[in-house]
Order: sequence, then structure tokens, then C-alpha cells
Amino acid sequence: MSLVLAFVVGLALGSFLNVVITRLPRGEAFWRGRSRCPRCLAPIPWRDNLPLISFILLRGCCRSCREPIPWRYPLVELAGGLLALALWQRFPGSPLLLLYGPFTAALLALSAIDLEHWILPDAITLPGTVLGLALAMVLPHLRFWEAALGAVAGSFLFYGVAWGYKKLTGKPGLGGGDVKLMAFIGAVLGIKAVPVVIFLSAALGSIIGLALALLSRRLKEGQWRTLALPYGPFMAAAAIFYLLAGVNLWPD
Ligand SMILES: [Zn+2]
Repeated sequence: MSLVLAFVVGLALGSFLNVVITRLPRGEAFWRGRSRCPRCLAPIPWRDNLPLISFILLRGCCRSCREPIPWRYPLVELAGGLLALALWQRFPGSPLLLLYGPFTAALLALSAIDLEHWILPDAITLPGTVLGLALAMVLPHLRFWEAALGAVAGSFLFYGVAWGYKKLTGKPGLGGGDVKLMAFIGAVLGIKAVPVVIFLSAALGSIIGLALALLSRRLKEGQWRTLALPYGPFMAAAAIFYLLAGVNLWPD
């Protein structure tokens, strides 16, 4: 029963995250104003705004103008539901969810924004880092020094990786936003997660980048080097994997 509830709460949070993902990069306030269709500006009534269900009932189109609703909306809602389910299964009723819940939600929003706009807004990563450090002082099983070291070592190490990547490929593939995201992940998951997340995200990025290059048949002499993907989603995926895969986070 609690798993069903976690899934439904996650769906609703995913729906909220969609608003953040749409409005934050435009500099709009996401806490006020009704949801509107971006094309015909018709306000969306609550019955057309139910996570997943409305998308299916409306067959993916706006009720008034039939403009297709981007697939990102149901996908973020579904991801929200599944991640909430996985978090509850991994940490049932734990106070750690006060940290890992918002952390996972932030990673989901950051991934979608990075895929759409190639930015990782400071408005999420910087308060996230502060929240991670603050909660490490009060929550059980967490140690402040591991969180602080994670944030500092994470950003420095990743800065080194970004520098090396630029030297190697001759183009700046990783930006300041990625460094701040690494600080956020380090602050929440601690120093031990930093090498795992860096290695895993690089491996994931290489495999998926290469697969996409092959799929789009762009693999001519050295062209795979120019096929660009935002890096944030790979870091987010690696961090969530570390969080959920049962790696012994902070053993005594
Ligand atoms: Zn419309």
C-alpha cells in the first residue's frame, strides 16, 4: 500500500517538476499562475492536468488546439513515480528521505533542463549544495566532513576532468554548470561517491554517445568526437544509481 502511495506522490511531484522545467529556464515564477497551453494559451483545467492519465485520455494533444503535448511531460511524471517508488523501497520511512527525495527530484529537473536548454541552473545546484551540507549536520548516518569533502573534492576533481577533456578533444565539452552539479552530488552523497559518479557518468556518456553516433550514421573519420550531448543527465543517472543500488553509503 505504501508503495502505491509513494508512486502516486511521485507522479504528482513529477507533474510539479514539469512546471519547474518549463518555467525556470525562462525566468518565470513557477509557484504562481495557472498552467496554460504554450500555443493557444488556453488554461488547463485540473481534469486535463492529471499526471499520465490526462496525457493518455487526451491522446497527447491539447484539448482546445490539438497541439501535441511534448513527450517530456508524461516521461518526467513516470520517472517521478518510479523514482519515488524506488526511494521508498530503499529507505522506507527513513528521515534520510528528507534529503534524498528533494535530491532526486532536483536531479530529474536538472536532467530535463540540460537536455532541452544545455544549462544546469545555479538556482537548483547552489541551494541544493547548501541543503546537502546543512542536512548532513542533522540527519542520522551522515557526516558533515564527508559531505563537505564531497562538495570540495567533487568540484575540484571534476574541474580537472573538464580540463583534461578539453585538452584531449580540443573543445569545451563540460561547463561550469557540470562542476556545480558535481559539488551538489558530492555534498549529498559524500566523498566516497565522487569517484564512482565521475567514472560511471563518463562510461555511460561514452557508451550512449557512441551508440547514438552509430544510430545516426554520423560515424565518419573522427566525427564521433563532435557529436555532443549534455553531460548533466549522465551525472544524474550515475548519482541515482549510486543512491539506489545499495552501495554501502556511509558504513561506520
Ligand atoms: Zn492548445
